[in-house]
Amino acid sequence: MAGFPKERLFEIEGNCRYLQCSHGCHNKTYLGDEILIKMAQSQENGKVSSNLIPKCPECGGRMQVHIELDGDFLRDKSWQTSCDAYQDFIKKAHGKKIVFLELGVGARNQMIKAPFMKLTNMEKNATYITLNKGGDLYIPEAIAAKSIGIDGDIAEVLQQLVQMR
Ligand SMILES: [Zn+2]
Repeated sequence: MAGFPKERLFEIEGNCRYLQCSHGCHNKTYLGDEILIKMAQSQENGKVSSNLIPKCPECGGRMQVHIELDGDFLRDKSWQTSCDAYQDFIKKAHGKKIVFLELGVGARNQMIKAPFMKLTNMEKNATYITLNKGGDLYIPEAIAAKSIGIDGDIAEVLQQLVQMR
């Protein structure tokens, strides 16, 4: 939504604009904008008419948003392509000055945090910056010297950084 080209994004935990079969019977995701908007507009007290609930085109079962909720999360072709591009980017950046900038990731989220922390530890010239509010920061001792933790509202902190230039 901010205008980054799709081929430069890797949504490791998926994206709730897409739908997948809830038990992953086939390896394909579907853009869910239309049905999700319809459901949002017609919901009452968080409930929608059952005829609006999307059905899997293959098995007829329930669909769910393409977010890693459990072991049935699909790593479809699009996800794999993004993953490969990310791995390639990391490979090419080896040895260079790298900043891992983490915005608004909770301290307990290991899916996003762990790879960044591991790479920060392995890469000589890496810096890990984590920004989250409410004291929800976590920086392991092994990378503390190469890390910056900022406790604050992302919008306010970024605005302050722009003004510091
Ligand atoms: Zn299915």
